[in-house]
Amino acid sequence: MKFVRFQMEDRTGYGIWEDDFIREISGSIFGDFEISSVKHTFSAVRLLPPAEPSKIICIGLNFRDHAEEIKEEIPKFPSHFIKPLTAIIGPEDPIFFPRVAQRVDYEGELAVVIKDRVKDITQEEALDHVLGYTCFNDVTERLLTRVQGQLTRAKGFDTFAPFGPCIATDLDPSQLTVRTYLNGKLMQEGQTANTVFSVPFLVHYISQCMTLFPGDIISTGTPSGIGPMQPGDVVEVSIDGIGTLRNRLQSLA
Ligand code: MG
Repeated sequence: MKFVRFQMEDRTGYGIWEDDFIREISGSIFGDFEISSVKHTFSAVRLLPPAEPSKIICIGLNFRDHAEEIKEEIPKFPSHFIKPLTAIIGPEDPIFFPRVAQRVDYEGELAVVIKDRVKDITQEEALDHVLGYTCFNDVTERLLTRVQGQLTRAKGFDTFAPFGPCIATDLDPSQLTVRTYLNGKLMQEGQTANTVFSVPFLVHYISQCMTLFPGDIISTGTPSGIGPMQPGDVVEVSIDGIGTLRNRLQSLA
């Protein structure tokens, strides 16, 4: 099943993506819901980020080939950082090139959407607490990652956390291919089978540190092939079974 969140005139709602339309649902996608008979075409709505997380946790250096390309060692434990909620944007929303930025990179990633409130869960329990998966772009000011000892500034700018277009359930997170396209050209292609840390391990590991809430996002790291974007460029993160997250980089006026 694919859940989408949408805005229609002055209201927002959740729906299920069925072929070329959205079927509205009532209730919570994180609990009980009912599927209604109301249908909308995609042209009648604006798609929103498909969850409203309390936090976004990103994993660094999870693909072996990406660690090699930025000359870092394969980590023994996941490195993780948090993006502020002010970084969230949805499908088709512009990514803004910050005034203080020099090099703004795409990082296409698979993201996990948490289903319910959890703390200290085991790897074996972890997937029972995952609602589904979405595409994530861990937009990064690359030069700031090198001059500072932490990643909050480099990765925390407004609009640097696009995700969507939907939350897809019933996927095997260890068997997905993450692809990133820049202006239609394939730039990244990574198999989640090649990650250092699995989704169950990451959910378990993060839950040892912080309580996770419904809708929280854990983005699982980017494969090799990172690179810069220029204002006007269109970036797409695409994962089979989920869909394509598309955004354009835009200069601030
Ligand atoms: Mg990343």
